Amino acid sequence: MDDRTAMRAHDGAGQGGQGLEGRIDAILARIDAAAERAGRAPADVTILLATKTRTADEILAAVTALRERGRRVAVGENRMQEAAKHEDPRLLALDIPRHVIGRLQTNKAKDAVAFASVIHSVDRDDLIEALERRCALADVQRDVMVQVNTSGEESKAGYAPDIEAVRGALERIRATERLRCIGLMTIGANTAEETAVRASLSRLRELRDELGEVEVRELSMGMSGDLEIAVEEGATIVRLGSAVFGPREA
Ligand SMILES: *Cc1c(COP(=O)(O)O)cnc(C)c1O
Repeated sequence: MDDRTAMRAHDGAGQGGQGLEGRIDAILARIDAAAERAGRAPADVTILLATKTRTADEILAAVTALRERGRRVAVGENRMQEAAKHEDPRLLALDIPRHVIGRLQTNKAKDAVAFASVIHSVDRDDLIEALERRCALADVQRDVMVQVNTSGEESKAGYAPDIEAVRGALERIRATERLRCIGLMTIGANTAEETAVRASLSRLRELRDELGEVEVRELSMGMSGDLEIAVEEGATIVRLGSAVFGPREA
């Protein structure tokens, strides 16, 4: 069985009525095996739960199960209109780091700054300006990540996957007073071909290494379908939805 076939087999298992804890144990085994193959410590990989369409109850159960297993957890929301569910007092009591991972309209910058401590999906200059303005108005600072379109797919957002474009974004962020760039983010190539997926993920690591900025060290990459490859290629944050919560309806 090659890696991709193995992944599909895992996904199938996830849909076979297995409960949340079973899915989480399966995911952690996949992450740990990939980390071991790459000579990395599994604890260096933060598990970010992609919470779009999920309820506070589902999020609570997943965070609790992951923490019981000693994992570092964050939540990532795409849709600012779903921010309210994260205000559930049981979730607030857990003090979970909140990230924004989805494409962000500039008119949602205010909501993103209010919601999250880290914004991954910084994909264009006018968003940098909007976030800076909103941080100044709220008198806060935020960590951000530069989204890079390493697959080159037209449907995907992000700066071009070349060092000049990424350095340009970094310099714009550095010129702000309120934003600090802590890493790079990408969405892997949307294909069953492992070589292309791996290339789109390793490119992000190469760009980070080429930047050579000590502060810019996080690599947000890897979703339910490509998390092994992402961990092998150096992901420090994997963004998981369906592999943890089960198939998504909306
Ligand atoms: C939904 C989403 C994920 C998680 O996707 P799954 O395939 O369900 O794991 C990761 N990143 C982003 C930006 C997302 O929107």
